[in-house]
Amino acid sequence: MSKIAFIGLGNMGSGMCMNLAKAGLDVHAFDLNPDAVAKVVSAGVTSHENVTAAARDADIVITMLPAGAHVRSVYLGEAGIAECVSENALFIDCSTISVDDARSISADLSVKNLNMVDAPVSGGTAAANVGSLTFMVGGEDKNFARAKVYLEAMGKNIFHAGGIGNGQVAKLANNMLLGISMIATSEAFKLAEKLGLDAQTFFDISSKASGQNWSMTSYCPAPGPVPAAPSNNEYKPGFAVDMMLKDLRLAQNAANSVGAKVTFGKMAEETYARLSENGLGGLDFSSVIEQLN
Ligand code: NAD
Repeated sequence: MSKIAFIGLGNMGSGMCMNLAKAGLDVHAFDLNPDAVAKVVSAGVTSHENVTAAARDADIVITMLPAGAHVRSVYLGEAGIAECVSENALFIDCSTISVDDARSISADLSVKNLNMVDAPVSGGTAAANVGSLTFMVGGEDKNFARAKVYLEAMGKNIFHAGGIGNGQVAKLANNMLLGISMIATSEAFKLAEKLGLDAQTFFDISSKASGQNWSMTSYCPAPGPVPAAPSNNEYKPGFAVDMMLKDLRLAQNAANSVGAKVTFGKMAEETYARLSENGLGGLDFSSVIEQLN
């Protein structure tokens, strides 16, 4: 059986790692936080005291880390695991990182004859825990086919977006659209309310009319119409303002790198940055509605 090394057992990684083990796979895990490592052992994951021990002779490496610098350091840094994995190892990075980082890390691995796909996810911790994530994968056909087997143990929808980095392109373009649509939906609810139309009535009409969108029907920022939405739970995340801000900044940087004009993406970034600066970064991103007058 292939040996899988899983690095990064935070909010997302712990559930993903445990789902691999529950599928009967041979999973070896490491995180800088010992409590996070202890948590996954109950699911049948083998824990390790350092990253090298977890990755030694691994055939598959899966990472779920905060940002590109962490991924580069774990793969290629001083204690980089590229030196200790098996000869034909495949690196599957599920973190959200920049397109440039994904492409340059992959290029540096290929010098060592190692393969990589970028496979960022859509869906929050709930989807990570129950194994219903959506994966957007960039990489060569043969690497995608090999990665898919493992991604299927952690997700429901696995898309091949093209060459290396294209998973991140899909992710940041999608999340930029989400950030914009949440603000636009919030503005519409606020306008309706100020003009005398209550949230439920506006929802009933607009969710069946041309303004209908995911931010409204699945994640309504106004309390009431969608019972499971964070708006009915004091805007506890969900998907926090600071996570949205991270993705909008990645989208801005990527847009600047190719001269793409993303005016509304920029406005969304500035809006969420203001929330974060005001100490609201830990609230769900749909709380933006509370800041509109
Ligand atoms: P997190 O901060 O909860 O987890 C990251 C984990 O990585 C931490 O446990 C940390 O200790 C560990 N780590 C950091 N450096 C390490 C190293 N050198 N070696 C080993 N472990 C190390 O973050 P998260 O919410 O799980 O998010 C992970 C990634 O998934 C991010 O890139 C994020 O943007 C993306 N993402 C998150 C969500 C979400 O809802 N939380 C949704 C989609 C995508």
